[in-house]
Amino acid sequence: MALVNKIIPFSCIDGPGNRTAIFFQGCNFKCTYCHNPETINKCTSCGKCISTCPVSALEKIDNKVTWDEKKCVQCDNCIRTCSNLSTPKTKDYSVGQLVEEIKKLSPFIEGITVSGGECTLNADFLVDLFKVVKGELNLTCFVDTNGGIDLSDHEELVNLTDKFMLDVKSIDEKEHIMITGLDNNIVLKNLRYLLNKNKLYEVRTVVAPGLNNKSTIKEVSKIINGSCKYKLNRYRRYGVRKDGLDLHGEISPTDEEMKNYTDLI
Ligand code: SF4
Ligand code: SF4
Repeated sequence: MALVNKIIPFSCIDGPGNRTAIFFQGCNFKCTYCHNPETINKCTSCGKCISTCPVSALEKIDNKVTWDEKKCVQCDNCIRTCSNLSTPKTKDYSVGQLVEEIKKLSPFIEGITVSGGECTLNADFLVDLFKVVKGELNLTCFVDTNGGIDLSDHEELVNLTDKFMLDVKSIDEKEHIMITGLDNNIVLKNLRYLLNKNKLYEVRTVVAPGLNNKSTIKEVSKIINGSCKYKLNRYRRYGVRKDGLDLHGEISPTDEEMKNYTDLI
């Protein structure tokens, strides 16, 4: 079983073509600028959010907070109440149950993209899922990852994955720790490993105020050396938690700044 935050049936921004994007709950990073920080931790069933639900869609059963999707009006009061960077709005799926969801959409999609949270924390589950999605449904499988798990330890997953989309938050180790809580050694190892295996669809960097964006973009461009796309994502304040806003502020980089960074690539 794996805990899923959300399934977006049709997405045109999570890899090539029309794709079903599956967002797994739980992340090993805690990025300051994360725009969906409620995907970071798994719910501890503390129960604080139950009374904030206007339609009684939440209740505690056998010490576990349960969510009634049919009653939910998506007001997000529960997410705003949670101080654990979590949400009660998740669902446990078996591989078979997820395949059934994908099967319904399969005539209309080119493939699936697994994301998060950090989807590779469920590496064994993904291996089983991809075997069916590729073998029986004949769809492509993309992985959107923060690169925080050593992928050379998960060769079967890498071989089954058509392409990866990898975030490189910062080339500077200290800055990477400041943004994510962890160093970038494994991320950079994964960058080189996936490049060597020709498994990268794109690398992404979030361009955010207060960071040494220039040196990250220059160094990452050198490593990629034109082998795959390099996408710069403009920081946006929407969804960013208070301590992240304290660091990066309310203002996104301007068009001119983004153009200068793109020119560096
Ligand atoms: S998002 Fe849904 S579950 Fe959460 S408080 Fe609102 S109605 Fe209740
Ligand atoms: S979502 Fe957060 S506040 Fe609600 S029960 Fe889970 S941990 Fe507690």
